[in-house]
Amino acid sequence: MILGFLLARAGVETVVLEKHEDFLRDFRGDTIHPSTLEVMYELGIIDDFLKRPHQEVRQLGGQVGREPVMVADFSHLPTHCRFLALMPQWDFLDFIAERAARYPTFHLKMKTEAVALLQHEGRIAGVKAKTPDGPLEIRAELTVGADGRHSIVRELAGLKIDEFGVPIDVLWFRLTRRPDDPGQTLGYFVNGKIMVMLNRESYWQCGFVISKGGFDEIRRRGLPSFRDDIAEIAPYLRERAAELREWNDIKLLTVRVDRLRSWYRPGLLCIGDAAHAMSPVGGVGINLAVQDAVAAANILAGPLLQGSVSPDDLHEVQRRRQFPTRITQRLQIFLQNRVIGRVLGARKQLSLPWPLKLLRRWPFLRRIPARLIGIGFRPEHVKTPDAASRIRS
Ligand SMILES: Cc1cc2nc3c(=O)[nH]c(=O)nc-3n(C[C@H](O)[C@H](O)[C@H](O)COP(=O)(O)OP(=O)(O)OC[C@H]3O[C@@H](n4cnc5c(N)ncnc54)[C@H](O)[C@@H]3O)c2cc1C
Repeated sequence: MILGFLLARAGVETVVLEKHEDFLRDFRGDTIHPSTLEVMYELGIIDDFLKRPHQEVRQLGGQVGREPVMVADFSHLPTHCRFLALMPQWDFLDFIAERAARYPTFHLKMKTEAVALLQHEGRIAGVKAKTPDGPLEIRAELTVGADGRHSIVRELAGLKIDEFGVPIDVLWFRLTRRPDDPGQTLGYFVNGKIMVMLNRESYWQCGFVISKGGFDEIRRRGLPSFRDDIAEIAPYLRERAAELREWNDIKLLTVRVDRLRSWYRPGLLCIGDAAHAMSPVGGVGINLAVQDAVAAANILAGPLLQGSVSPDDLHEVQRRRQFPTRITQRLQIFLQNRVIGRVLGARKQLSLPWPLKLLRRWPFLRRIPARLIGIGFRPEHVKTPDAASRIRS
């Protein structure tokens, strides 16, 4: 959506396909990071964006055993918004779609599912799509697979994937939040259990981390036992855990981390999760997808306006974005294996790890995780022009 917006804004005829009839899906990742907010600032849409209902997280904390610890402090970031915004992803996408629709070059086709790639003289030349009104062919100078971690585009293009082992899965659910509950919480690490809780004002969005493939065993033990696990981590949730009435109230996220060896073929490029599925550790998947989109627009808007995108142009996008992706994934894999995997396997409460002791002793060090989470490696800035004269009145 962001790439479609940026290209259309630069004057490139752009069609965005979405297979669903809306963007309304729960637990899809609702964090908008300072670097993404900065992109919206550069686009001049940040004030309108912040008028939409959202929560602002200025510090991230956690609890190890019964010890609270503050991990990240966003208040010193070199960005205009020094906080992480929490907003349902469908509201964010609706907002971007609405702003993009002001450009006559932007076309969003909902309920339109890409099912095959068109080829012409050794190049990908567009897609075949399924719509309620029948099949549709869309021919294009460039086709971009931004269709997420189960990308059909990358599969149809035969792009090779490197998969990295992941020791965890996550169970997502929501529980009512009360005004006297603790504030923002990053995560609980209690007695070999890990739970992340995001404050959504009226409810908590909870992510309960389990060992890979461990959901069957949890189900076998039964829902009352799972509710007890929640209450053991956060005793104030004991009664509210009863809001989980059936397993359907709990969604399993099968965590995967992978990356394409080559992100492109002549006429085709993959970005976002389609090029590199991210672990939920640090909640940076949306941020990376947005940064990919900004870099792709910066590099490709010129060639697209001239009507010809070469494999070298596409290689340049991969070269630019591969480094931040690779280093972020390495960090996520390190934390999954060395911290999260170890906590999950522990029989008794582990003591506070030394990096957290340092963060507790010297608050200024909290700026480092804030920068890694809030901005990440190699932040991108909007360089594409605004073909403002074409805006619909
Ligand atoms: C449960 C969960 C929680 C997460 N939490 C966070 C978080 O807190 N913070 C964070 O930053 N990241 C989080 N992530 C990761 C984040 O959601 C992704 O990294 C990010 O959304 C990737 O963006 P994307 O645009 O590449 O793909 P997606 O957001 O997956 O978007 C792909 C879109 O393409 C559409 N589509 C798929 N196939 C087709 C097709 N054939 N034709 C047409 N349309 C198609 C899909 O319907 C979808 O709308 C989470 C992920 C999950 C699953």
